[in-house]
Amino acid sequence: MTRYIRLFCLLAAAALLAAAPDGARAVGGAQAGTAVVAADVAVEAEAGRTRFKISLSREVTIQTHVMERPDRLIVDLPEVAFHLPPESGRKATGLVSSFRYGLFAPGRSRMVMDLAQPAVVSAIRTEPGAFGGAVVLVIELSRADREEFRKAAALSAASSSNQAGEGADTAQAPKDNRPVIVIDPGHGGIDPGANALTGAYEKDIVLAFAQALKKKLEAKGLYRVVLTRDQDVFISLGDRVRAARAARADLFISVHADSISGGQEVRGLTVYTGSERASDADSAQLADRENKADAAAGIDVGDGPDEVMDILQDLTLRETRSFSHRFAGSLVGELESIARLNKNPRREAGFRVLRAYDVPSVLVELGYLSSRQDLDLLMSEEWRGKATGAMTAAVDRFFATRLARQGAAAVLP
Ligand code: ZN
Repeated sequence: MTRYIRLFCLLAAAALLAAAPDGARAVGGAQAGTAVVAADVAVEAEAGRTRFKISLSREVTIQTHVMERPDRLIVDLPEVAFHLPPESGRKATGLVSSFRYGLFAPGRSRMVMDLAQPAVVSAIRTEPGAFGGAVVLVIELSRADREEFRKAAALSAASSSNQAGEGADTAQAPKDNRPVIVIDPGHGGIDPGANALTGAYEKDIVLAFAQALKKKLEAKGLYRVVLTRDQDVFISLGDRVRAARAARADLFISVHADSISGGQEVRGLTVYTGSERASDADSAQLADRENKADAAAGIDVGDGPDEVMDILQDLTLRETRSFSHRFAGSLVGELESIARLNKNPRREAGFRVLRAYDVPSVLVELGYLSSRQDLDLLMSEEWRGKATGAMTAAVDRFFATRLARQGAAAVLP
C-alpha cells in the first residue's frame, strides 16, 4: 500500500472518529486486542419496532446515525470479522428492508441498514451470548415520522460536515520519472459490488485481477504501479479520484465486473470512458449504479457533482479525454483477439470515478457476473493471464506514442 493510499485510509478513519454522531453510545468497555467476531444475526419485528440482533465474541463500542435519501441507519464498530451466512441481510423484516456490512477503513467496520420507512434507534443494549464473554448486541428501531427522521439525519450531517474538506494533498513528486499507472479495483469492504450466482463478489474478482495486472505491468520495470486498494477495504469514489491525482498518475484504470438483469445472454468485456452524455441507456444505468457505491456504504454524496471545475480544468478535461479515448481504443484492439468482447465494447457514461480532469482514465468491465460463461472466464487463471497481457500491451503502446509526441513538442498530459 502506498503512503498516499494509507493517508486516505487514515483520513477516512479520522473523519469517522470525528463524526461524533448524536447516536454515539458506548456498549460496554471495549478493549483493544483480539479481533471481534460476528457469528450470527437475526432481525425481529413486533408492532412498530424492529430488533436487530447480532452475536459478537465480545462487547464493543458502537456509534449510530441515520441518513436520508435513501433512508438508512449506519452503525460504526471497531473492526469485526463477519462470519455470517452469505444470504444475511437480503431479506426484509419490519423496518429493515435489507442490510450490509464489512470493513470500512482499517480497524473500523460498518453496518448499513436500508430502512423500509423512517425509523430511529430507540434502544441499544447487550444480552449475554451463548458462550463466555460473547454478547448479543441488540439495536432496537422504532417507527418515526418524516419530520422526526429528517431532524435526526440533519443532526448527524451537521456533526460530520465540519471536517469534510479536501484531503490534504501533500504528495511529493516521485523521485523516479517512470510513468505512474493507478489501477483501481472497484468496490471493497462494506460495498461488495455485484454478486454472482456462485456467491462470488465483484470486489474480490476485480481485486485479484488488479493485483495480477499490477504484477504484469511492473515486470519490465517501465512503470510505477499503484493500487487504490490492495485489500478488502471500502474506498469512496472521491478518494479513488484523489488517489490518482495525488499519485500524479499518467493513466488510471478502474476495474469492474458487474451483472445485468437482462439475462445470461448479455456478456463480454466493455471499455468505458467518462462523458457527461452516456452512449446508450444501458451505460447510463450502469454508471448510475456504480455512482451509488458511496451511498451504499453510508456516505452522503449529495446531489451535485463532487467537485466544481473551473474553466481551465474543464479545458484540461477535454484534452485529457482525448487521451482516454485513444487508450480505450487501443485496449479494445489488444483485447479483441483474446477476450470475448461485448457487442458494443467501447462505450461512454458519466462515471464519477472517471472525473480526474488531468488523468487519462478508463473503466474496464471485465464481463458480466450474471453470465455463466463470463464468470467461468473471470475465475480462470489462464484467461486472467491473457487479459492482463493484452492490457499491458495496450499500456505499452499508449506510453510509446506519448513519449514520441513529447519528444516532438513536450506536451500533455
Ligand atoms: Zn462495479
